[in-house]
Amino acid sequence: MLNGVSVTILCMPFPELEPGSEECARKLALLHDIKTAMSELMDIHNREMQALIAEDFTRAEDFSILLQSARSRKAELIELYREHVTNHGC
Ligand SMILES: [Zn+2]
Repeated sequence: MLNGVSVTILCMPFPELEPGSEECARKLALLHDIKTAMSELMDIHNREMQALIAEDFTRAEDFSILLQSARSRKAELIELYREHVTNHGC
């Protein structure tokens, strides 16, 4: 937990590629996690905007920390994805 935001486990068990399957399960899982991380970033930005509209400046630092964490997670996932598709050839 980081400031009330649960951090999901980054590395899931590596799913085996089904024989004859054209989709790589790991690749799809990583894409799903990246999409989730991007949605989380948008969600934080939305909440930050709502606070600004409400002229609530008391949580500016919290938003900054949350955004930093979410951006870092997104960057990690993108790097994992890049490494995976490069090495796995899927
Ligand atoms: Zn793959």
